[in-house]
Amino acid sequence: MHLDPFELHRPTSVEEAVRLARELAGRCDYLAGGTDLLPNYKMHLNLRPHLIALGDVRELRGHSLDRVGAAEPLADLEADPEFRAAYPGVADALGEVATPLVRASGTLGGNLLVETRCFFFNQSYFWRSSLGFCLKADGDKCHVVPQKERCYATFSGDLAPAFLTLDAEVEVAGPSGRRRRPLSELYDAAGDGIRRLSLAPGELVVALHLPRAARGQRGRYKKLRVRPSFDFPELGVAVAGRWDERSVDRLSLAVGGVETYPRRFDELTSPLLGAPLTTDRVDELAEAVLRKVRPVHNTFLLPDYRRRMVAVYVRRALAEAREGGAAG
Ligand SMILES: Cc1cc2nc3c(=O)[nH]c(=O)nc-3n(C[C@H](O)[C@H](O)[C@H](O)COP(=O)(O)OP(=O)(O)OC[C@H]3O[C@@H](n4cnc5c(N)ncnc54)[C@H](O)[C@@H]3O)c2cc1C
Ligand code: SF4
Repeated sequence: MHLDPFELHRPTSVEEAVRLARELAGRCDYLAGGTDLLPNYKMHLNLRPHLIALGDVRELRGHSLDRVGAAEPLADLEADPEFRAAYPGVADALGEVATPLVRASGTLGGNLLVETRCFFFNQSYFWRSSLGFCLKADGDKCHVVPQKERCYATFSGDLAPAFLTLDAEVEVAGPSGRRRRPLSELYDAAGDGIRRLSLAPGELVVALHLPRAARGQRGRYKKLRVRPSFDFPELGVAVAGRWDERSVDRLSLAVGGVETYPRRFDELTSPLLGAPLTTDRVDELAEAVLRKVRPVHNTFLLPDYRRRMVAVYVRRALAEAREGGAAG
């Protein structure tokens, strides 16, 4: 596998990056750490002739407890003890992304926007050509659910579920200016699986903002994967909240790695507010989440196994969050 030639652009401001993306509409991708995009390019997956590198845009770097720049390397977040202590679920997730080497280059923005995965998609051009390709790249049919005209590739980023539980907001810049909206709205659940983000063409993720109330909650992220050394998630469960032995004040739960987009389950967690978090209630919640998710057979582990493990991981995440207490 080789990397085809491309033209590299190196803007130094958000405005310049967005202007370039508008001029090169349909022929460019943003390049952050490149740890997802470039391996995909080597497999000739949706190649573009122009790459807009984000590494020189200062506004995209840096982090505090309130804001993380989109091009901030994951290793820099992981190395900050104050950040890890304030957001224990995110800290778990950071430690689970790929390997330390990948986390040294991989960024927050790239992780939130990581390409969805499927074993008919993450293959060489030669491998895919033998099957006549698929809807997501170069073809016109889906090999996983052939009777439907949409893509079911799996969202496999580790950080999105953890940040979703914290009510994070994403700041986006585009030709018509800047806007901020809940992170959950970055993922377009109504799309066809190929269009799976609500970003307009050329829009750039600038930063993630964390509300003051996100700090100091109990939190955990539990990940199921085949090889613990570096595999993508086959399932990721994040929980965050505030509770004591008498009552639940706040509880949020999000799941990734099983469907095309990461999903928060407020409709299942809100009935638990104001009452003690008993083992029975946790069991009911775990079974309810299991009934909601619909994995398909496009990753290594069988969908029924991944679905059943959802309940196991919800129980484990909540048990560990209970033991861990509130973060500092
Ligand atoms: C061996 C290996 C194992 C991996 N395991 C995991 C894993 O376990 N969990 C996991 O979550 N990931 C994993 N990854 C994927 C990837 O390394 C990480 O998700 C990483 O955080 C991606 O960040 P990046 O900066 O390298 O993204 P890039 O590859 O640079 O970009 C990814 C996508 O996001 C877009 N993009 C990037 N930044 C912006 C922005 N600011 N605005 C708009 N678009 C943007 C790019 O155009 C591209 O489409 C793995 C990768 C490898 C190679
Ligand atoms: S789910 Fe279907 S369309 Fe999507 S990548 Fe897999 S085979 Fe292709």
